[in-house]
Parts: sequence; structure tokens; C-alpha cells
Amino acid sequence: MISHVLPTYNRAPIAFEKGEGAWAIATDGSRYLDLGSGIAVNVLGHANPDLVAALTEQAGKIWHVSNLYQIPQQERLADLLVEHTFADTAFITNSGTEAAELAIKMVRKYWHDQGQDRIEILTFEGAFHGRSTGAIAASGTEKMVKGFGPLMPGFRTLPWGDLDALRSAISDKTAAVMLEPVQGEGGIRPLPDADLREIRALCDRHGALLVLDEVQCGMGRTGRLFAHEYAGIAPDIMMVAKGIGGGFPLGAVLAREKAAAGMVAGTHGSTYGGNPLACSVGARVMEIVATDAFLAEVNRKAALFRQRLEGLVAAHPDVFEGVRGQGLMLGLKCRIAPTDVVKAGYAQHLLTVPAADNTLRLLPPLNITDEEIAEAVARLDRAAASLG
Ligand SMILES: *Cc1c(COP(=O)(O)O)cnc(C)c1O
Repeated sequence: MISHVLPTYNRAPIAFEKGEGAWAIATDGSRYLDLGSGIAVNVLGHANPDLVAALTEQAGKIWHVSNLYQIPQQERLADLLVEHTFADTAFITNSGTEAAELAIKMVRKYWHDQGQDRIEILTFEGAFHGRSTGAIAASGTEKMVKGFGPLMPGFRTLPWGDLDALRSAISDKTAAVMLEPVQGEGGIRPLPDADLREIRALCDRHGALLVLDEVQCGMGRTGRLFAHEYAGIAPDIMMVAKGIGGGFPLGAVLAREKAAAGMVAGTHGSTYGGNPLACSVGARVMEIVATDAFLAEVNRKAALFRQRLEGLVAAHPDVFEGVRGQGLMLGLKCRIAPTDVVKAGYAQHLLTVPAADNTLRLLPPLNITDEEIAEAVARLDRAAASLG
């Protein structure tokens, strides 16, 4: 008989009832060190007092207000996003998938309003933009699209990081190029800064829009507020989610004025998107994460973590092949199935997340302490030893 919860996930037999910073506490009272953060969501750890205060303060006032009215909390979040990024405007969503859907609509509307027949969006293998019909078409990943056809037309998938393929595919008919600066689900695969700069230049040469998906790699995860900042370029449109809510469902599409010009009243909407509860939390997350001091700490801790992980890889060459990633978006390329390492981690009360390309993801809360990093590496070491 089918479970009452639609069985689309293979779940570990653990349930958490409480969290404190980098620790998730299971129903049996045992404490797990959390290097998954709900897949890059809990950027400030569990039950962060600042976020709890922001949420409960708003919860006592008003939860939901329709976008038929002014929503000051939404305006505050949009102000912060515009102030700290390339963007001129933001639409607030409840998830990354919704952000991807709007980004695609925005691209199409832009070219429609230019009176040009440009609908092709170039994407890359290993991409993940969500599970909606549009987002799976954009990913092109066999596992995600099989059985769900016919796919939404207008996407062409190129080999990841293959600039030659992009140079021959892009033309004056290309609507946009869409990619994650660091692929998350695809296996913590950063695109070199020089490549991102060249992609920006190719888009400029052909008039195509550049759409970046920073749902997983954004919000301080890589040590900059957004990963593309390392390359010194800016997109035309960007999707944000996961970390922006610190655990509360929240996402956003950021855009330059020119790219967003077609999105006038009536062209898009959301019942919940931009609600006061989510936006109060999101604004607080932005106030904390989008500061030089906070990001400097992320980088300091990332260097420490990475150095220890290099030692771990050297100590277990039969389990691990190497470390990759940027900031606190780290991946351990495995020689064995990463799901086996995840399971061995559970035995050490450590939470990690598998990804494609045989990679184990380490996405700790950005405020993890030095002691917790040392403890995490000790637990990874014991997990690896149990597999060797
Ligand atoms: C998780 C993710 C999404 C989808 O976000 P949801 O909030 O699950 O809808 C989109 N893009 C990237 C890069 C992601 O990691």
C-alpha cells in the first residue's frame, strides 16, 4: 500500500524534533552535527535567536497580506536585495522552483516585447533548477525528465563548462544562457571565473540575457554574497532561494530594469510570495549575512575546513579522491558511492548530503564554529575508517 506521504523520497530513518545552531536533535535525543543545513538552507543554523525573534515578532502582528496591498516587509527585503546586488528590482517567491519559472517567463517576455523570435535558452548538463515542468526541461537530466514528457520546448543542454560548445551554440537567435556558477545537485562543480566572464562576454556579443541560478551557491555560501561576484561580472536575471529564508520558505528573482521591463501589472503573481512572515525573516538574514565581517568569517572558516578536508582525503585515498567547491559549499569527490559515506556518517551522528558526479556535499551552517569544524572532520574520519 502506498504511504500516506507520497513516496518520492528515499528517507533515512531519523526524525528531528529540535535544532541548536549546527546541531539537529533527533526524537531519541541524540545529537547530529549538521553538515547539510537542509541542503544549504539553514545558513544561520537551527533556531537562530535573531531569526526566531524576527519570525515571532511578525507572527504576533500579521501573517498574510495579499499583494493587492502594500507590504512594507516585502519592500524592506527588496530594498536590501537591490542595495547589495546588481539588481534594480526583485520579485519575492516561496521557493527556488518558482524563481526559476519566473526567470524563464521574464526571458520570454523580454524578447516578445522586443518583437524578436528568440526563445532558445541554453543550459548545461548537470544543472538543477527545480522540479516543475519548466525547470526539468531546463535541466535536461534524464532521471528528472523521464516519463514527464512532452517537455516544455525552448531549451538546449550543452556539456557542463564546455565553452567551445557554447561558442558554436550561441547565436543572435539565443534568448538567454542559464546556469549555476557552482553546480550544487550536479556535484559541487564551480565554473572557473574566467569561463563565467567569457560567458558574459558571449551573451553581450549576441545580445542574449545571462540568467544565473544562485539558489544553492548564493547567500554567502561561497564566501561572497553571491558566487558570480568572484568573476567580477553581473547577470541580467538571478534566482535566489534556500539560504535567503534561513529555513523559512522564501525565494526571489532579481533583475536589471531592462530585463524586467516587460513584467508589468498582471503579467505575474503569487498568493504567498512576499508575505510579511517570510520577508521579515529574509530581511533579517540579509542584514546578518550581507556584511563584510560575516563574509570574512565564512572565508576564514572555509579555509580551515578545506585544509582539514585535504588531510582527510590524504588519510583515506580508498574512499575519497579530492576536495572541491568554494567557501562553505564543499564537495568530497568519492571513490565509492557517496550514499555509502552518507550512511556511515549517520552512524557517527553526522549529516551530509550526496550529489551527482559521485560527490558528497558538505554545506554547514555559515556560522559553524571552529570547534564544530574540527568535530565534523573527526566524525568524517571515523565514517571513512568504517568503510575502508
Ligand atoms: C534547490 C534548487 C532549486 C529549487 O529550489 P526549490 O526551493 O527546491 O524549489 C533551484 N536551483 C538550484 C540551483 C537549487 O539548488
